Amino acid sequence: MSQSREKMQLTVELMRRGAVMMKEPCPLDNGVQMRYKGKVYCTTHDDLEAALSAKEITFGDVAASMRDQLLTKLKENTALLENEKDPQKQDQIVSVMAKYVDLLSKLESSQRT
Ligand SMILES: [Zn+2]
Repeated sequence: MSQSREKMQLTVELMRRGAVMMKEPCPLDNGVQMRYKGKVYCTTHDDLEAALSAKEITFGDVAASMRDQLLTKLKENTALLENEKDPQKQDQIVSVMAKYVDLLSKLESSQRT
């Protein structure tokens, strides 16, 4: 199968999946550009195979990994706080933790809507 034929098939497949042909040509090579899952792909120079396997990033995915990170950090800071004798440093740790908790509660409420 020739490369351009392969490109054509990938283009057709992308369009079948909802990619939208764009009016503006690629600034690099004047190729036809398509918008797919929030990204713009040039049908001439971009790897369309990668576009096809691209996974849509959802807020839910990001929120889930953020939540994991925040909980891990909170746990680390809880341990830090436990061993901290200096009141000034305790204050710093607590204010950082307060921000994590704030962000966590925002995440939770955003997922309820
Ligand atoms: Zn291009």
